[in-house]
Amino acid sequence: MIFPERFDVIVIGGGHAGTEACLAAARMGCKTLLLTHNIETLGQMSCNPAIGGIGKSHLVKEIDALGGAMALATDKGGIQFRVLNARKGPAVRATRAQADRILYKAAIRETLENQPNLWIFQQAADDVIVENDEIRGVVTQMGLKFFANQVVLTAGTFLGGLIHIGLQNYSGGRAGDPPSIALSKRLRELPLRVDRLKTGTPPRIDARTVNFDGLEKQWGDTPVPVMSVRGNRAMHPRQICCYMTHTNEKTHDVIRRNLDRSPMYSGVIEGIGPRYCPSIEDKIHRFADKDSHQVFIEPEGLTTHELYPNGISTSLPFDVQLEIVRSMKGFENAHILRPGYAIEYDFFNPQDLKHSLETRVIGGLFFAGQINGTTGYEEAGAQGLLAGINAALRAQEKEAWCPNRDQAYVGVLVDDLITLGTKEPYRMFTSRAEYRLLLREDNADLRLTEKGRELGLIGDEQWQAFCEKRENIAREQERLKSTWIQAGSPEAEKVEAIINTKLIREYSLHDLLKRPELTYDQVATLKGEAVNDEFVAEQIEIEAKYSGYIDRQQEEIDRLRAYENTILPDDFDYSLVEGLSNEVKQKLSAARPQTLARAQRISGITPAAISQLLMYLKKHG
Ligand code: FAD
Repeated sequence: MIFPERFDVIVIGGGHAGTEACLAAARMGCKTLLLTHNIETLGQMSCNPAIGGIGKSHLVKEIDALGGAMALATDKGGIQFRVLNARKGPAVRATRAQADRILYKAAIRETLENQPNLWIFQQAADDVIVENDEIRGVVTQMGLKFFANQVVLTAGTFLGGLIHIGLQNYSGGRAGDPPSIALSKRLRELPLRVDRLKTGTPPRIDARTVNFDGLEKQWGDTPVPVMSVRGNRAMHPRQICCYMTHTNEKTHDVIRRNLDRSPMYSGVIEGIGPRYCPSIEDKIHRFADKDSHQVFIEPEGLTTHELYPNGISTSLPFDVQLEIVRSMKGFENAHILRPGYAIEYDFFNPQDLKHSLETRVIGGLFFAGQINGTTGYEEAGAQGLLAGINAALRAQEKEAWCPNRDQAYVGVLVDDLITLGTKEPYRMFTSRAEYRLLLREDNADLRLTEKGRELGLIGDEQWQAFCEKRENIAREQERLKSTWIQAGSPEAEKVEAIINTKLIREYSLHDLLKRPELTYDQVATLKGEAVNDEFVAEQIEIEAKYSGYIDRQQEEIDRLRAYENTILPDDFDYSLVEGLSNEVKQKLSAARPQTLARAQRISGITPAAISQLLMYLKKHG
């Protein structure tokens, strides 16, 4: 049976990667089809109900700067917002929001249903049509054929999905959802390298059975942070409190006693799990000296009693899960609503992709999200957006857009995946970006929105607001640079009272703002008025305060390029280089590269490591 429509782009899967992919392609004017198992699960959070966090919020804000949906949906569904690392430098500051699952999903679905050029169809894709190494379309479970020369696959944890609870296992894409078996088999026929990874989730708990007395409370920040440049606080639903409890000796005993019933430790699970989101049994095993681990108790929404106990992901048998949960303070009588589980799934070696996320072997077939070996909604969303953009560009016979590592975190993510590959689920961290002072979450729009507009991703409203913000920043920066405070003036006295130092010469307001003791508001109002826009003010303040570091980073970038052929002596002692991981030190010591350029090409030697080496060489001649 042939469906009458032909599309420019077909996206398989309505998770975080798929929704951003189809929205991007449709915004760029392509006739786009989103084919997904179930319309009810569009934008579903498979694991914890939170968006953002360290490294991840940078991706969310980049998606937003390119017109994507994730940040705005977070503003509409976020029930607790915090800025992590708020007291540290702006490069590592990261917004994190706890989201109401239902509100978040509703916001994503509303965006999808109102997107021109986008058709949504609920069906499993079971097969792909390939002719002469080019993708031509998709065949669904019902045998319907949809044709397109560009297909973006974003099947998440569903390909060959196998759910484990204790030593029992069954096929599933995630709890309550079917796996993708036929498509998994079909893709294994293509010349792409496939392997298995695993991830896991904790049991969920009924809040009515929890004793919150004496548990540590955690409120969000005030004023409440906003995730999207198109968002605002009025959009936020009611804000709630989270709690904290801890594992204890009893919990750890239960786990140790039952490790032989763990699918991970008995060898039933073959896939490697996420290093930075380990299961509780993994934590007890790996950090045997620790007698307690934090467990954050996060409400799943405003209209449910369901709680997400962040920190006890497990695939131990259900009776053990119950013992683990009830061993903790506040959970003594807890009722488990859903058991925790682990899932194994197919992922494709990302080294078989181009930087556009198109596969090297099948023209027009793009991969994005968890299937490329990543973990996390944000990592998936960013890849989905990029794959959607490049599928649309291909449909329009235009060149692919592949952001560089010094342009965007999504550039870092894709470059890491493609040049290094991955053996374990990859998650983003600020430490992965060697140019992180330039790639801040606060300037994602200034880095990317102009490009987004050029690509056709940015609507008039967002573009106008962006241009206004950019002009306001430039105008105010100019004013601060050209407004002077004379030594001995009443304005200078005000400054002296704050910084406890006499001003002995004239200073521009911009120079004064570089001082750590002075805020933008204090400086801007010395002469004239401060701008009435917190995001403009934030940008001006960060750019002034960190201009020295930013300039140095820029020089570092230039030097990195210039020193590509720097000689590394044969007897170079890598153990002396601070900041290199043991893994990197071992690899370099074993390989003994003759030049920095060669070191750069060794698998596992990140650009961040090269940067550390450069700094060391500079310092020690
Ligand atoms: P998904 O969100 O999985 O979406 C895939 C979509 O594709 C689904 O809508 C599915 O129905 C659809 N689909 C699949 N196959 C087909 C087909 N053949 N035809 C039509 N539609 C199809 N991330 C973390 O960062 N930390 C964690 O601790 C963590 N734990 C997790 C635990 C579990 C149990 C699971 C399931 C996931 C966990 N994740 C975790 C991962 C997180 O959920 C994913 O990274 C993220 O959802 C990936 O987004 P995606 O769009 O690639 O795939």
